[in-house]
Amino acid sequence: MAIRNVTLNINEAVYEQALAKARTEGQTLSQILGELLTEWAGPLPEPPATPSPPPAEAAPAGVARTYTVKAGDTLGGIARDHYGSPAKYTLIAEANQITDPRRIWAGQLLTIPPLPETPGPPPPQAPVPPAPATTPTTVTPAPDAPPITWVGSPNFNRRPDRKDIWAIVIHATANGSLEGVINWFNNPQAQVSAHYTVGKDGRIAQHVHDEDRAWHAGKSSWKSKPNVNNYGLGIELVNLNDGQDAYPEEQHQANLQLCTYLCRKHLIKPEDIMGHLDIAVPAGRKTDPRGYDLERLRQEVTAALGT
Ligand SMILES: [Zn+2]
Repeated sequence: MAIRNVTLNINEAVYEQALAKARTEGQTLSQILGELLTEWAGPLPEPPATPSPPPAEAAPAGVARTYTVKAGDTLGGIARDHYGSPAKYTLIAEANQITDPRRIWAGQLLTIPPLPETPGPPPPQAPVPPAPATTPTTVTPAPDAPPITWVGSPNFNRRPDRKDIWAIVIHATANGSLEGVINWFNNPQAQVSAHYTVGKDGRIAQHVHDEDRAWHAGKSSWKSKPNVNNYGLGIELVNLNDGQDAYPEEQHQANLQLCTYLCRKHLIKPEDIMGHLDIAVPAGRKTDPRGYDLERLRQEVTAALGT
């Protein structure tokens, strides 16, 4: 069908409502707004057939859209949905000043720019660049790695030395669900994150790349080295941290696999796996992970590493 350009002025409340609806129903904002518009004005008449219709999903010329990133999205996939071609991800990256196409996160609002006008004869076909490095929903970068779902978070920065990773900090979330933690870490206002969260059922979500600095330890020190965020990896266990809430065996086994994998990958010693309570400054500032058997974890990681 032919694409028509529509200028739509909506107020903040309608926009927020549509955005929330788009999130919960997994649709794009333009789909939701299109439905609202159809409800309001009645269905638009079918346009006359044209000899060479543009793809139905193509962005209308001259109109920028917005899109809210969902878990598992990639820039290439978003470009395919909006432009019919994953290779056009560069348009979205440029419009949103994204330098690393892997660094998008669920909840992030992206501007989807219109396709550039191409008046006159089509330009000669340029070689199609490869699609960006994708962030598949489940990445298994090494044979011994447990299944890990990349969810991303905007809350990270660079480590002083990207290769200086030699400690693991175990936390309890004080939050009841994995989804709740993912949403919180996806909120830029939260200013907190961890590298991984392990759910009660053993699912593992990754929020920040190991080489980047997640924000979990706060004022801290381990083996006389301050600021553990600089050189530590943070793992959150979903648990209320009230001393009553249990850590199910599935959760412990997933955490054991994750810690073993990370120790092998970064040459971390099991003795440098500690709880937030062990490193917080001043001592006693933190109690998590309350009730979790860290000594058992260290022993089992040691056994699994075969050292
Ligand atoms: Zn903590």
